[in-house]
Amino acid sequence: MAIAAFPDSTNDSRYRAPGKVWLVGAGPGDADLLTLKALRVIQQADVIFYDNLVSHDICALFPSSTPAFYVGKKKGDHSVPQSQLNDLLVAKAKQGLTICRLKGGDPFVFGRGAEEMLVLKRAGIAVGIVPGITAASGCTAYAGIPLTHRGLTHACTFVTAHAQTTAHGEDRLSIDWAALAHMKQTLVFYMGLSRSEMISNNLQQHGMPSDMPVAIIERGCQQQQRVVVGTIATLPALVGEHALQSPSLIVVGEVVSLRDELAWFAQSDVADLALAQTAEKISA
Ligand code: SAH
Repeated sequence: MAIAAFPDSTNDSRYRAPGKVWLVGAGPGDADLLTLKALRVIQQADVIFYDNLVSHDICALFPSSTPAFYVGKKKGDHSVPQSQLNDLLVAKAKQGLTICRLKGGDPFVFGRGAEEMLVLKRAGIAVGIVPGITAASGCTAYAGIPLTHRGLTHACTFVTAHAQTTAHGEDRLSIDWAALAHMKQTLVFYMGLSRSEMISNNLQQHGMPSDMPVAIIERGCQQQQRVVVGTIATLPALVGEHALQSPSLIVVGEVVSLRDELAWFAQSDVADLALAQTAEKISA
């Protein structure tokens, strides 16, 4: 009589408790800006999948025994297509693993967090979210630019300069430029570096004064942070002159002028305090 092989409980999802996916915001770069909950999930997960905006300092906190996979998406280089990544997350969770899906900033701010969560929930996988500090909030704080200031702004709007593309590769971007140009508000453009001319032209054509202050924050909240200041008219030239690279955030509004007095991060004594080497502290 043949004896049936004993099922391998490590690979067969029927013999393991269902897994769980945590969508975790890693913040804008400084490892000390991780939440305690984010750090706990990183330390307790069975596997980590992380994006290109997750900084080296944060990757240094991954336990050496935890498998960690880079699944980032840089412009034009989608190392793992989103649909394949979704399938992978579902498959790993069904194996009973606890997954840390680590994303730059906040998962729900231009981070495709909801797209992944919808797929996972529809597949019956338990999902939790750990919010992170979004670039708009972290980078402006480190640049000494308040998002709001009494008397200067009534609102603050986060805008993406890139949208889902059509089958022909065109953007489905639909922005109400008149509304953005007219309200007394701070505008924060994500993914705007390669669209600086379009942003500058549209805002001026819809009535924004050409001397409206603008800041571009490159690699905000990191040792290499650079902040370049100009006006909405000079924005495209600034990007070229300073050879600014991604990730960069564009901030438009009167609040930018406060940076003259509020800048703090470039002053090395304070910068040292803010960018304490978390990885070293924890491993020490
Ligand atoms: N979910 C992220 C945003 C992802 S979209 C968040 O909440 O922050 C990617 C864009 O975010 C980049 O193109 C850039 O505009 C901005 N960004 C993210 N991190 C940044 C950083 N450290 N410095 C400057 N811009 C950043």
